[in-house]
Amino acid sequence: MGVQCDSFAEGHSTGRRLMFGLLAVMLCATVALAACAPSKEKVAEQQRQECFANEQKIKTAMDLEHADSGFYPDVNAVAKALGAKCPAGGTYVFDPNTDTVSCTVHGHP
Ligand SMILES: [Zn+2]
Repeated sequence: MGVQCDSFAEGHSTGRRLMFGLLAVMLCATVALAACAPSKEKVAEQQRQECFANEQKIKTAMDLEHADSGFYPDVNAVAKALGAKCPAGGTYVFDPNTDTVSCTVHGHP
């Protein structure tokens, strides 16, 4: 392994330079991309976080109702009552087996 690396370093210095050049270009492109085109990603991430916050609110309400009456209320009724709507248009579903609220678009955290 060590011998292979050494011969690679000596025999392919041009190739290595090229590789580093490419790496540098790729790095620049990545940085540029991160700097100028994040708005869509950012919005999607914000929506995701907002959606997870909604899920948390809904789950808390579901749990309270369950502790109170022994059964889970309809998740959509709870979401509506709380004004919790997925910003990306997803629908909330509740799994009583795992006690998890998830979104059809974002899933759950
Ligand atoms: Zn969602």
